[in-house]
Amino acid sequence: AKAVNRGRFSFFSEEMNSMAQERLALEGALRDALRGGLFELHYQPQIRLREHTLHGVEALARWHDAQLGQISPGRFIPIAEECGLIGELGKWALEEACFQLADWRRRGIQVPCISVNLSATNFHDLDLPQFVTGLLRRYSLVPTDLTLEITETVLMDTNPSTNQTIAAVHALGIPLAMDDFGTGYSSLGYLRKLPVSELKLDQSFVRDMAKDDAVSALTNAVIRIGESLKLTVVAEGVEDADQYQLLLSQGCDVAQGYYFSRPMAADELERWVRDFRA
Ligand code: C2E
Ligand code: CA
Ligand code: CA
Ligand code: CA
Repeated sequence: AKAVNRGRFSFFSEEMNSMAQERLALEGALRDALRGGLFELHYQPQIRLREHTLHGVEALARWHDAQLGQISPGRFIPIAEECGLIGELGKWALEEACFQLADWRRRGIQVPCISVNLSATNFHDLDLPQFVTGLLRRYSLVPTDLTLEITETVLMDTNPSTNQTIAAVHALGIPLAMDDFGTGYSSLGYLRKLPVSELKLDQSFVRDMAKDDAVSALTNAVIRIGESLKLTVVAEGVEDADQYQLLLSQGCDVAQGYYFSRPMAADELERWVRDFRA
């Protein structure tokens, strides 16, 4: 029995060792990519449903590694969190988004605003408000040119800086959006605690709303909450005409998803905006 156990132990430890090594390699590649300018932002249009105009775009990080290929945010965000690179990634995304919006404005490409995703950890940084203020000044932007997307993990966060940073960002007049709304366990509770101006209805609800009346009742309820609290409701993951029609009839303000467009590189987004307006 002992021999078997020893055998097993060494099997598991080798397995863990190779996982740890892969992780370590990814960590190193991530750090190099971030500092070497290999990250990109892609942009997904957000459409105002009643007006059929462009509300804004959401910036989503993309990482293509020469050896490893395309690595999804679902994979690299958790690693960036754990190895302490998420602060850098957040600041990079904020700067890249501001740079891009200023460039579009200069060239007459009409993008109303950019939403940037931030992790709860980004709000541990008491310098974040000052950093954003600096960017707005440098790129001649106003606070409402940006929206910061946060998730409810921000609320479960016990870091003492978080409340202060959120309050400071809010005081600057930068809109906050509650991402993945409806998936957390305290969705309604955090509406009291966070100064958000936008609710992003999670894509899991949108996915099922056209085939399940109970889900459609829930999306309707979220839209009514948004309406009574004067929050913009953005439906995520809209993929077909049925979902689009249903959201429109429920009075949803804004929608994004493959039905309109996938997230696109900056130059592709520019062409999309021109065609959309034409
Ligand atoms: P998210 O913020 O909820 O972003 C929406 C995700 O849904 C994106 O995945 C987007 O590409 C995808 N999506 C958009 N339309 C549709 C659709 O119609 N159907 C389906 N099935 N999916 C759709 P992505 O780009 O892989 O990002 C995944 C998550 O990674 C994001 O979820 C966000 O939480 C995180 N993330 C991405 N970029 C950043 C970043 O710069 N910073 C941070 N902190 N997180 C990021
Ligand atoms: Ca988001
Ligand atoms: Ca989301
Ligand atoms: Ca998500």
